[in-house]
Amino acid sequence: MTRPSWDEYFIEIALAVAKRSTCNRKQVGCVLVSKNKHIIATGYGGSIKGQPHCLDVGCLIDEKTGGCIRTVHAEMNAVAQAARNGASTEDSTAYTTLSPCYWCFKTLVNAGITRIVYFEEYRIPPDDFEAFACGVELVHFSRLEEAREKHGKETPKDIVLREEAKDIEALRHIAGDRDGEQAQQGAPAEASAGEENR
Ligand SMILES: [Zn+2]
Ligand SMILES: [Zn+2]
Repeated sequence: MTRPSWDEYFIEIALAVAKRSTCNRKQVGCVLVSKNKHIIATGYGGSIKGQPHCLDVGCLIDEKTGGCIRTVHAEMNAVAQAARNGASTEDSTAYTTLSPCYWCFKTLVNAGITRIVYFEEYRIPPDDFEAFACGVELVHFSRLEEAREKHGKETPKDIVLREEAKDIEALRHIAGDRDGEQAQQGAPAEASAGEENR
């Protein structure tokens, strides 16, 4: 019997949560998990409390973006549920079925979430470097096992740091080679001058 990893376990739960979404366009689920692997809150895409759902009255489309603006996104609903329950989201992980939009990304960061694992990529996902700059680890679930095989237990942050170190090392080599070339170019001239003296 192979047990699912914690990431698999919580992503599976987020996928189940997504099924409760009320917008026809995209069903999204989110689970907030504390450092000690306890579920803090769950959220799915749905209308403002007490308001009609897209499923019943149709989507409310923003003409500029073409997106549905009737629903509160899953991530924001999860943070809102945690707030209503008085549960801290500090240092927690957000498992989402879809990579967060910018609004949700910003909300998750400011709610103290330090790791975001998403199942599927949204059309405009926040990128790794942006997340890194915010001190957040952003992980595409489907690439997780592959990434682990490639990089061991490194986080994207570790990988970025390692790649940066590599670049710095490469620049040092280039600078070193240039110094070396100059020394080599100078050396034969000195040697020939020495030979002449002999
Ligand atoms: Zn909708
Ligand atoms: Zn969102």
